[in-house]
Amino acid sequence: IGKIGILTSGGDSPGMNAAIRAVVRTASYYCVNCIGISLGYKGLINNEMRKVVPTDVNNLIHRGGTILKTARSEEFKTKFGRKKANINYKKNGLEGLIVIGGDGSFTGAMIFGQEYNIPIIGIPGTIDNDIYGTDFTVGYDTALNTAIEAIDKIRDTATSHNRLFFIEVMGKDSGFIALNSGIATGALDILIPEKKYNLDKLFYSIEKVKQKGKYSSIIIVSEGKKLGGVYDLAKTTKKKFPDYDIRVSILGHIQRGGYPTCSDRVLASRLGVASVEALISGKKNVMTGIKANKVIFTPFLKAIKKKRKIDIDLIKISDIIAC
Ligand code: ATP
Repeated sequence: IGKIGILTSGGDSPGMNAAIRAVVRTASYYCVNCIGISLGYKGLINNEMRKVVPTDVNNLIHRGGTILKTARSEEFKTKFGRKKANINYKKNGLEGLIVIGGDGSFTGAMIFGQEYNIPIIGIPGTIDNDIYGTDFTVGYDTALNTAIEAIDKIRDTATSHNRLFFIEVMGKDSGFIALNSGIATGALDILIPEKKYNLDKLFYSIEKVKQKGKYSSIIIVSEGKKLGGVYDLAKTTKKKFPDYDIRVSILGHIQRGGYPTCSDRVLASRLGVASVEALISGKKNVMTGIKANKVIFTPFLKAIKKKRKIDIDLIKISDIIAC
């Protein structure tokens, strides 16, 4: 194999740059040329590519975001769009692709790979940690640590003012960030999309701590409509507890940026190396991942179709130690 392409697609996550760096350096180590494709599948369709060499990824391992930039491409979902992508893939002499992204990006990779017999390896890069076939996705640990740092700060002011805070964290369809950040910050309750929430349970917990004379608490809520929205929850709670000073804080996009943690840098580096070695050894249409601290490969179809299950038992742990 003489030349490979690399792109980042879908939502960005901290550690994508560390993965790009690892891919570029590994390709060079094995004397394979590496082409960086800008803006995900959009760049493949519009032929936005340039050669990347090891010095291009100097001073990069610690930077958030992605130097290749990322995008969503509706055109790539069409046969015509993928045909254009294949023309550019061939024109640039590529012999394999590495796609860093989430399950949507892997769906596109699987379809494109099968349609044109292109070997593609995926690296799971998303803050949500919701991909089957890996214990951790690149970016999750950083997002989690960003969330707990922010929640700790909110707790300081919540305690000073005797306020009850509803804090929304990212994860529309997945409660990994909410559940783990909630436990790590001592939240009174944690509402995640995987579990039907129970207002009575929430009110019972508030009542319980109130009777102990505690008026400040943190309640963590995953974003998205599945849980009805954090403002509505706060409003309903205020009706039940009119004497409470209730506030809402939405952490938002800070969770997607920043310096990747050590875990994310090491994970990204391991998966970056593994993905290039996989292409060289003839693997195709699989995602690299980490299971029990070992690098493994999962077919795209399985990674996309199977849902990575959250450990609901953690809710019980949170309930036991919250108050
Ligand atoms: P994240 O979950 O972090 O947002 P993601 O990779 O799941 O990342 P998506 O927006 O779902 O993000 O998908 C990224 C891109 O993958 C899409 O914009 C599209 O170009 C491509 N893609 C997704 N689904 C398909 C599909 N069914 N066919 C072809 N391409 C697809």
